[in-house]
Amino acid sequence: MDLTKRFNKQVYKIAVSTIRQFDEQVTDIEGIIKLTLGEPDFNTPGHVKTAAHDAIDKNFSHYSGMSGLTDVREAATFFMKEKYGVSYQPASEVLVTVGATEAISASLLSILEPGDKVLMPAPIYPGYEPVITLAQAEPIYIDTTPNDFVLTPEMIEGAMKEHGDKVKAIILNYPSNPTGVTYTREEVKAIADVLKNYPIFVISDEIYSELTYEDQHVSIAEFIPDQTILINGLSKSHAMTGWRIGFIFGPKILIAQIIKVHQYLVTAASTISQKAAVRALIEGMNDAAVMKEEYRERRDFVYEQMTSFGFEVARPNGAFYIFAKIPAGYLQDSMKFCVDLAQQQAIAIIPGIAFGQEAEGYVRISYAADLATLKEAMKRIGKYIQSK
Ligand code: PLP
Repeated sequence: MDLTKRFNKQVYKIAVSTIRQFDEQVTDIEGIIKLTLGEPDFNTPGHVKTAAHDAIDKNFSHYSGMSGLTDVREAATFFMKEKYGVSYQPASEVLVTVGATEAISASLLSILEPGDKVLMPAPIYPGYEPVITLAQAEPIYIDTTPNDFVLTPEMIEGAMKEHGDKVKAIILNYPSNPTGVTYTREEVKAIADVLKNYPIFVISDEIYSELTYEDQHVSIAEFIPDQTILINGLSKSHAMTGWRIGFIFGPKILIAQIIKVHQYLVTAASTISQKAAVRALIEGMNDAAVMKEEYRERRDFVYEQMTSFGFEVARPNGAFYIFAKIPAGYLQDSMKFCVDLAQQQAIAIIPGIAFGQEAEGYVRISYAADLATLKEAMKRIGKYIQSK
């Protein structure tokens, strides 16, 4: 009996992750250094771990309410107010999710209908498109490469004119994975000023908000709270990827609908992780600061090295990625370039193509690795460049 034909056809349209494909090709190379992962190399802060131990000892082993424990929702709204000046009601305007990933899925599945279009600046994190595909909606990419990966109000206007009423939402992600680009207050406001003219949802994935190096992070929710579904979480700020804690903030009427999808996807986030999250958000409110200083040093080092090798790099101002253009005269197919680099010098970085067609010819380096590893990695990339 062949049941494969009875599968949801949308699932077959979801491409196997390019990052995974690449990883499979290079993983067995002897002595390989991987600067591939989008996750902090730091350990979760000790006091957060202690809070989790306490939660286990005190038998916080039951389901929490669907929207999350009251103290986490209070802590999360307090954090957002303190850090970014955006106000939400803990009782009705926040939802604790299983990482930002579930926040993205639950939000998109709640708003999208077949035939809807979703705007996204490209290159972009590959985690959105599969959910859009599952919902039988269509991703529309706005190419930001000609403008050093910076999305402008004019680009949004252009896309809205072209796609009109079919557009249901725009996804923003800043600081950006993979480019590290982020936006100043003026830039965020200018984007908000355009978006407020259209009846579309703004899904703003600000998971790297605590990792901005020059300017203060400004949430778009500050300007257009009524249409913004704001996503954040503890994975990057507190080195807590495995704890799976994310958040959705938004108007009560939207959260009430998203909760329904969230309920049947996951019921609720882990209660033990939620208890740890309270510690992270209150006592650990500034935990990211120490990590950020290290990331900044690494960014400066990798940026300087890659530039000296002849890669063109728009200096990233957030997250922990360097997005670099492969110099002329080398393999321009980013997958081939990265596989060859890995085979010749045992250093793995992600081919740009993993972040969309617009990112072909680029590579992404994650500098979530210690300085000694980064020094060795850069030595190897330098050797590769010289050897060709
Ligand atoms: N959004 C972006 C832009 C990311 O880069 C990532 C992880 O790499 C996620 C969401 C997923 O975050 P989480 O681990 O909290 O699900």
